[in-house]
Amino acid sequence: MSLNRRDFMKLGLGACLLPAVGCSRAEAVVSEEMYVFGTLVAVDVLSRDSEGARAAIADVSHTFTRQNRDWHAWKSGALGDLNRALAAGRAHEVDPTLLPLLHEVRDLARASGGLFNPAIGKLVGLWGFHHDEMPVGAPPHAAAVAELVAAAPSMDDLLFDGTHVSSRNPDVQIDLGGHAKGVALNQALDRLAALGYGNALVNLGGNLAVSGTRGDRPWRIGVRHPQGEGAIASVEVSGRMAVVTSGTYERYRQDGDRRYPHIIDPRSGQPATHVVSATVLHPDAARADVAATALVVAGAEAWPEVARSLGVRDIMIVDEAGRVQLTPGMAAKVQFAGRPASVKTVEIT
Ligand code: AMP
Ligand code: MG
Repeated sequence: MSLNRRDFMKLGLGACLLPAVGCSRAEAVVSEEMYVFGTLVAVDVLSRDSEGARAAIADVSHTFTRQNRDWHAWKSGALGDLNRALAAGRAHEVDPTLLPLLHEVRDLARASGGLFNPAIGKLVGLWGFHHDEMPVGAPPHAAAVAELVAAAPSMDDLLFDGTHVSSRNPDVQIDLGGHAKGVALNQALDRLAALGYGNALVNLGGNLAVSGTRGDRPWRIGVRHPQGEGAIASVEVSGRMAVVTSGTYERYRQDGDRRYPHIIDPRSGQPATHVVSATVLHPDAARADVAATALVVAGAEAWPEVARSLGVRDIMIVDEAGRVQLTPGMAAKVQFAGRPASVKTVEIT
């Protein structure tokens, strides 16, 4: 059997065709895909050793499966158990992998001025977003929504006593749907780096984070068009950086030709509709995840204030008319695929 150059490249042996001194394998991107967190997950690792890279990706994918169980609000797992205890008015000993998330998300929720509120799990459930399938049919009764808004569940209702957590508000149900993927991204990149893979890209259904570079160039990330097919723009990032997008197109309740998206404004109990997508770049993927969701709730005028208090600066907002707003930091990094309806640069002072 004779191997041509392409066969060598496929086997990761390309560099061995070069002079025989210091013969080492070429760096190549090793990619794997899996289905976790109710979405397609892809991991790319730059490596000279594809077997080792595949083992490292398998390691993080096992962790994703465990995190999906432990951080899921309604299935059986650590967070589901806590929610059931809170609903029954009991204090609960929280799993050690979950406790730091609760502290972190409480602080981020405060910084968002309550627009990001993971304690509104009952409202999210009332709108029908507790199932893997998207809900259909008429929205919930206004009185039921109003009752939950009036109950004002908040992360500040939680009482922490060491590892035990209870709630002084029986309407608190915790939903980490807008935060946990960011935490998972951070932990995956930390783990890959600890295993020796410091050049990686992790994509959890459009929420991405990278480390290092893609060899001699940065990682190039597409941002999905919120109102059409394909990408609206792309950004090039390197080093430790997350690119997280929240969009009203992702999940929604369909009632005839009306759509009620899955991000709920805690002030009204109604889905947020004016901003159709918010993209945030930040080295901490958990903060970027929370911020992207919070900026959709904040809306097309108030978002800069919320961005400032959450400490995020590189942002792209698309409103329902397709108009784009960019911070100067984002403007310097983004390349549009087509021509948006309008583009405005907004400073976060
Ligand atoms: P994301 O896809 O990151 O924008 O997160 C959206 C998910 O977060 C929803 O599917 C809900 O589970 C949850 N969620 C909805 N509205 C809010 C909100 N105002 N604050 C925090 N979490 C929310
Ligand atoms: Mg989010």
